[in-house]
Amino acid sequence: MPVTLDPTYLESLPAEQLLRTVIGHFGRRFAISTSFQRDGMVIIDLALRIDPATRIFTLDTGRLPEETFAVMEAVRTRYGACIELVYPDAAEVEAMTTLYGPNLFRSAVAQRKLCCQVRKVRPMERKMVEFDAHAVGLRREQSGERAATPKAQLVSGKWKFAPIADWTSAQVEEYLAKHDVPRHPLESRGYPSIGCAPCTRPVSAGESERAGRWWWEQDGGKECGLHVTPEGRMKRELDVLLDEVLAAARR
Ligand code: SF4
Repeated sequence: MPVTLDPTYLESLPAEQLLRTVIGHFGRRFAISTSFQRDGMVIIDLALRIDPATRIFTLDTGRLPEETFAVMEAVRTRYGACIELVYPDAAEVEAMTTLYGPNLFRSAVAQRKLCCQVRKVRPMERKMVEFDAHAVGLRREQSGERAATPKAQLVSGKWKFAPIADWTSAQVEEYLAKHDVPRHPLESRGYPSIGCAPCTRPVSAGESERAGRWWWEQDGGKECGLHVTPEGRMKRELDVLLDEVLAAARR
């Protein structure tokens, strides 16, 4: 059946119908990109109910908490799913940590974004060569940076879908409980948003969902570059650092 890949039409679809549409359209050229947080777990559960062979990949940055591997194993067991782990380029990590140290993210926002480029953004770009489309668990409610997230958009020639962009936190909780979906162990310890171990802390009552990410920064934005690209001065600063790391990696 022909499918309309019109962002306005896709925006109008409920999450399950949107996923059914794009899985049917893209097949093996579609994947879920996830870090196994609760929003991503909704996407996984919905998609695997539609097609148990839906591809799932995750970025193993080398700094993930042990609990993230525990939930990966829970997903593998529960759904019989294969999870494709994507790693950063070893030479780039070596060059970066030799130049700036293993905990460079504490020194400056630009160095934190450099770490996210090397450990997340560049591996993601390499992995996306295998796909024409991917889905993520972004929701508009999560932060100001995500408030305008569309359900469907073309980014550098690839489709990016956020099927639950319009869901509330309560809807996510209701879905997870109803379908008894595996949960990331850190959620029950006060982590509503979970990334790399050294860059994530629990939040207090009243703080935003992403307040625990890079909490020491005043002006970095709570994004790693996968969903919001740095602009202006920050981008130029990051480009200089990245060029330096890539040159060192090639030596
Ligand atoms: S979240 Fe922290 S450790 Fe992970 S890639 Fe970004 S800066 Fe590096």
